[in-house]
Amino acid sequence: MIAPPGQPVSQVGNVAGISQEAWATIVAAGGGPRTKIGPFDRVHVFWLAGMSCDGCSIAVLGATTPSVESLLTGSLPAIPLVFLHHTAVQLEAGAAYMEPMWRAWRGELGDPYVIVYEGSLADESLAAGSGGYWSAVGEEEVDGRLRQVPSAEWVRRLAPGAAAVIAIGTCATWGGIPAAFGNVTGSMGMMDFLGKDYRSALGLPVVNIPGCSPVGDNFTETVAAVLLFLQGVGPLPEFDELGRPAWLFGETVHRNCTRAGYYEEGTFAEAYGDKECLVEIGCWGPVVNCNITSRGAINHVGGCMNVGGVCIGCTMPGFPDRFAPFYKKPPGSTFSATGAKLTGLFIRPLRRVSERDRDRTARWDRAGEVPSGWGAPPRPTFVDRLIHVGYDWIRHSGTAAKDR
Ligand code: SF4
Ligand code: SF4
Repeated sequence: MIAPPGQPVSQVGNVAGISQEAWATIVAAGGGPRTKIGPFDRVHVFWLAGMSCDGCSIAVLGATTPSVESLLTGSLPAIPLVFLHHTAVQLEAGAAYMEPMWRAWRGELGDPYVIVYEGSLADESLAAGSGGYWSAVGEEEVDGRLRQVPSAEWVRRLAPGAAAVIAIGTCATWGGIPAAFGNVTGSMGMMDFLGKDYRSALGLPVVNIPGCSPVGDNFTETVAAVLLFLQGVGPLPEFDELGRPAWLFGETVHRNCTRAGYYEEGTFAEAYGDKECLVEIGCWGPVVNCNITSRGAINHVGGCMNVGGVCIGCTMPGFPDRFAPFYKKPPGSTFSATGAKLTGLFIRPLRRVSERDRDRTARWDRAGEVPSGWGAPPRPTFVDRLIHVGYDWIRHSGTAAKDR
């Protein structure tokens, strides 16, 4: 039931007793130093869920750069206020919650809208025969009876008029766990569902932000970039050939991993809790496009290998089947890790020689001791010094220091 403007609402579950429209107006009025640039004051975001665990929603609620709050209050310069329709964070319930979606379908919303889809899209024809559905939101009357409207059907209705369709999480992007081998739901990702010819009202193919769960900041940052484009104040962000934000998924997680130095020196963890590279206990990082080690999981903190977990390839289209069984050494790492071990046999001792030499001052060398009350640091050996005579000669060759 929809309350008249300015009147309290009495839907079951609406503990705030206020309409979403009224709430959005209030927060927009007090939402910080918003700079009005571009044609749109606000944009609706219809967050639909298919075969999902809600992990994407949780990940996004933890985003900080930008935060969900800043998007919902329209407090970011040039970015329109985001009017979010999400079953977990929306104030309204029942028919009032569904009303904007019906208006969007009828072309009567009055503002642009974006579809965000969490979870994979099941083949609803497999469930319809039994009179059921895999995932649905809202209901409509058909032949005198109410039927639940599958969320995939909402996508069919709303996608043509949407400014953008954003698939969040690996289930919505590629199919993910609900689409794994043996599933009975016919689940698939958004690109498979809408097809390669789909273009939004702004001419965009499906935007994909994978991860199980995804990094929340990857999502909010991409949404902000797309909204700036929608406002006409920013360029179309760069996406790769799979619709991923290119600046977020262009590198393997291995390249920015905090343990990559151990890999390069050929030292590897043998058990969980060890500090070295995890490839020999099942890490797929060298072949996985993901930025979690540099971005962190939440508030730039955490992230799989940062906290001791191996990469199981959760951002990749081949996840989970092509990365299973998890926690087993990837066969290819036998070659690369063996190569790193052989190189490390020479490199590690040489680096320790330089480390011992550079871990002291020239004054301590002259005095013959380190005046530390904490203990006796390792002294360079005779061989260390011999190596460094040659090393320093090469280091200084061609410089003024060589002639001193
Ligand atoms: S833990 Fe994984 S991602 Fe990190 S260095 Fe080792 S193989 Fe690469
Ligand atoms: S490091 Fe691997 S398992 Fe962790 S989030 Fe990235 S792709 Fe997923």
